Amino acid sequence: MFKHSSNILQTPIEYLKGVGPQRGELLRKHLSIFTFGDLLQFYPYRYVDRSSIQQIRQIQQDGQFVQLIGRIVFFDIVGQGRARRLTATFKDASGQIELVWFQGISWAEKLVAEGGNFLVFGKVNLFNGSWNISHPELEKLEKEKNETNLGLMPMYSSNEKLKTRGITPKMMSKMIQGLLPQVKPTDLPDYLPESICTKYRLCDRFNAMQHIHFPGNQDDMQQALFRLKFEELFMHQIGICKLKLNHQKSRGFYFEKVGDYFNQFYKNHLPFELTDDQKNVIREIRLDTQSGHQMNRLLQGDVGSGKTIVALLCMLLAIDNGFQACLMAPTEILAQQHLVGIQELLQEMPVRVGFLSGSVKGKDRKIILQQLEAGEIQILIGTHALIESTVVFKNIGLSIIDEQHRFGVAQRAQLWKKNVLPPHVLVMTATPIPRTLAMTSYGDLEISVIKQLPPGRKPISTIHRTEMHRARVMDFIKTEIQQGRQAYIVYPLIEESEKLDYENLYSGYEQVKQFFPDHTYKIAMVHGKQPIEEREQNMQAFVKGKAQIMVATTVIEVGVNVPNASVMLIESAERFGLSQLHQLRGRVGRGADKSYCILLTTPKLSVTGRERMRTMVEETSGFAIAEKDLELRGPGDIEGTRQSGAADLKLADIIKDLPIMEQSRQAAIDILLMDPELTKPEHALLKHQLLQRPDQEIWRHIS
Ligand code: ADP
Ligand code: MG
Repeated sequence: MFKHSSNILQTPIEYLKGVGPQRGELLRKHLSIFTFGDLLQFYPYRYVDRSSIQQIRQIQQDGQFVQLIGRIVFFDIVGQGRARRLTATFKDASGQIELVWFQGISWAEKLVAEGGNFLVFGKVNLFNGSWNISHPELEKLEKEKNETNLGLMPMYSSNEKLKTRGITPKMMSKMIQGLLPQVKPTDLPDYLPESICTKYRLCDRFNAMQHIHFPGNQDDMQQALFRLKFEELFMHQIGICKLKLNHQKSRGFYFEKVGDYFNQFYKNHLPFELTDDQKNVIREIRLDTQSGHQMNRLLQGDVGSGKTIVALLCMLLAIDNGFQACLMAPTEILAQQHLVGIQELLQEMPVRVGFLSGSVKGKDRKIILQQLEAGEIQILIGTHALIESTVVFKNIGLSIIDEQHRFGVAQRAQLWKKNVLPPHVLVMTATPIPRTLAMTSYGDLEISVIKQLPPGRKPISTIHRTEMHRARVMDFIKTEIQQGRQAYIVYPLIEESEKLDYENLYSGYEQVKQFFPDHTYKIAMVHGKQPIEEREQNMQAFVKGKAQIMVATTVIEVGVNVPNASVMLIESAERFGLSQLHQLRGRVGRGADKSYCILLTTPKLSVTGRERMRTMVEETSGFAIAEKDLELRGPGDIEGTRQSGAADLKLADIIKDLPIMEQSRQAAIDILLMDPELTKPEHALLKHQLLQRPDQEIWRHIS
């Protein structure tokens, strides 16, 4: 028999009344709820305000969220295969609306069949002239009891598998209701320092936990939410800020001087005047590398803003100080483009440049590795192959990572093992990073930004067309090709329906071939499912101008440079994210010719869909587009941003809760400035808590 430990929150979940071994297993497996404490942190994802119920007749706007009460008067399963769905007619006193399920059909059918009153919540769509809601939240209302209770009701999530096995959202609610009275204030000690709680007016943890699950009123709920979000973000930020502090303190190589390599190149071989932003970034990096500490800097600059030349100048700076430098790209093709570009820039300079990737094998590889270890290679360009442990430098002083988002944080850390002190690290990305992400995923890095584009760029005309104009669009591409230009045609790839996407790609390819017959045109197809050699070969055919058209998925999104390409046609553009569209568009407009980006969509776009296309047509700056993108995202998209950002946030939303994040970051910085190792007695509880968290590795390394 299990004995209760001193803290009830550590009790395994199966010992909760009404749970038992079977449900316990389900909760562990599907919701990662192992203990009472985990259950307590299974927060409601929203509250139903029973006092605000809409009438069906009053629905006006596509995309509006509504909450309705009524009955199901009819339901049926229709369609086959992918179109198979459950439809139900839902009625209140004012009118009726259609509900649709494409997934979880059997569960929904069972629930719908029960009859009685239901609470429906969801987003309305206008479909064939009438309103419907697909995948609404549907909750059976118990007679009278709930309907007359006009307070805030917590809603818990569940999934279909759990629902069919008796763990419904309602069941979750009951379990939590059963648990809360057993929890004492001493089980939930407040580990946030008192100074912080006072300054930011946080309610205590015990109360917050009670109120988050069963708020008496809006006020209690808001206070509880604020407190718990603050805590969550604070615990995350204090780790990141500590990491940054450590970076700033860790010893790094001292780049004493600007020497001949840099100066000679700058004076004699720089093909253009640097923009002010480029000069500023170089200045910042110069300061970093003279500080005696390791540099960890993120260079953010829109597509085509000229990050490569900055990278090269910094590598020359490293060489001037007797160090080696490396430049890593996420794909073979990008790495090779860097090699070619940099060799060309350096052709009259006595710099030894080497190349290493997975494709460099056998004897060639051995030679490269030897030259590297002997210090004969001064600049090494390549792919992730560079971080393998077999790659040994004589004296690496600077590592540059291009297009960070394909490189993990852990991989970045691998670099540090390559010399007696960690080399300086510069990460370059064209993906605009919203302020929130800058504080989370990149929170340990210093940030530099290139905002200006080099002068003389011809703006890219962006045009939105629908399917109906396909033939004219193809004719336009034809005239461009006849003038010697090249064109990209890109198809969306969305993992959920991968098979269908590839069918689209292949049928698209066949369609393109009909417009551009074999005997006059060469079309290169490039996608992620091809064998690497085939892909590289097709890619090279386009890069070298042997193929006039490239039909591709978004594998070309990042970095490919073909200045002769003047048209980017994006198929089903409504299915891409705005930032992704912007990245794709950046593939053209790189040469002297006027370039075009054509967004092809269905004629039947939603309101937001049209707004998104308009944004692309009107906006040219990646930053403006990234901001608009966040603004246009509905609640449905938030999951993705969550994953991309802070680890494991249960409550806080890194986009919407930016103000709380800023406050919690400031709070974390204040504490660390006062007590960097958290050794003061008033921080003992906090330290203890941090030491127990798996994501706070950093505290375990210090005494
Ligand atoms: P990205 O930041 O997207 O990596 P690149 O470094 O590839 O951009 O630069 C894009 C193009 O702009 C290159 O052809 C490069 O030679 C050119 N370029 C970079 N800086 C300048 C500048 N200051 N003036 C003119 N052209 C520049
Ligand atoms: Mg680049």
